[in-house]
Amino acid sequence: MARTTPPRPVDVTVLFPELAPLARTTVRLHPRAGEPTTADSSIGGPLLWPADEPWPTCPEHVGPWHRGLVPADVRLRRRILAEAWARPRAEGTELLTPDERMIVDRATSPARIPQDGPVPMVAVAQLHASDIPGLPCPDGTDLLQVLWCPFDHDPDHLPRTELRWRTADDVTSPLAQPPRPAVIGSDYYLPEPCVLHPEPVTEFPAPHELPEELAERISAWEEQNEEEAEEDDSVVCYQYDLAVAPGNKVGGHAPWSFSDPFPMSCHECGSGVRPLLTVDGVEWDGGSGSWRPLEDAGWTGHHTDGPACATHLNVGRGYCLQVYVCTASYDHPHLQNMQ
Ligand SMILES: [Zn+2]
Ligand SMILES: [Zn+2]
Repeated sequence: MARTTPPRPVDVTVLFPELAPLARTTVRLHPRAGEPTTADSSIGGPLLWPADEPWPTCPEHVGPWHRGLVPADVRLRRRILAEAWARPRAEGTELLTPDERMIVDRATSPARIPQDGPVPMVAVAQLHASDIPGLPCPDGTDLLQVLWCPFDHDPDHLPRTELRWRTADDVTSPLAQPPRPAVIGSDYYLPEPCVLHPEPVTEFPAPHELPEELAERISAWEEQNEEEAEEDDSVVCYQYDLAVAPGNKVGGHAPWSFSDPFPMSCHECGSGVRPLLTVDGVEWDGGSGSWRPLEDAGWTGHHTDGPACATHLNVGRGYCLQVYVCTASYDHPHLQNMQ
């Protein structure tokens, strides 16, 4: 089933025509729990990886042990909690049985866990160009793979990401059993397998990136809307309803939110960078509910078990991780930023 973003509440280019040339297409990925194969685009699914190519490991996280969680415990905890929320419960009774409580507690209490050698990276995303319209692949490639080390890294306390571009047809002998970490730094960094439902939508720059005069006029328009609204009207907000789409996506604009935009440039050549991929734990929330796909409008269950949180990721405790690439060369190292 496709996922469809509802039309934006207003056409912002009619109100502010100078925004029109700043429009960019982003492809919302709409990850939903599933069983992707190496042939599919996915978040948290298996990668189409050549058997003779070493699996990436993190040089900063080398055994013999780390403080963290066992991935199998984390997955078991998620299953137990989802089942517990779904079953009928008499008022005043515990959510979990004593046995379940023991497993859930173990899966949230970091311990010293042996890790043989460097920590193998975790598969985060696999994007086939055939699934993602406009995926900006380097010449001759048609597949992007993203992995990360599931521990916080300096200076941003984000997982260290690794990108691979390849040609899917070149992988004639795929790796059957990729190495997996024995320990992860946080359950937020272990994605559940999700299939994707790519959908191109139009984005405009975050207000922080607009010329000041235009940002002020938009802000005045928002204030006027608020004054004119009746008590239970939802008021359209440029930042949350019209500018940058929330959730996992390819391309588009930077989702500047809690920090002011700062210039970013390639560490190798100084050229500009552009957003390639945004990894987010939530597809919409209270402020960005207008982006909730029509197909998910009926969800009434627990928010964190629902379609908005299918990946179970939570980068930076509720923010998102954006990967940028150099506009001059794909060979230059990518940048990452949390917003
Ligand atoms: Zn690491
Ligand atoms: Zn560069």
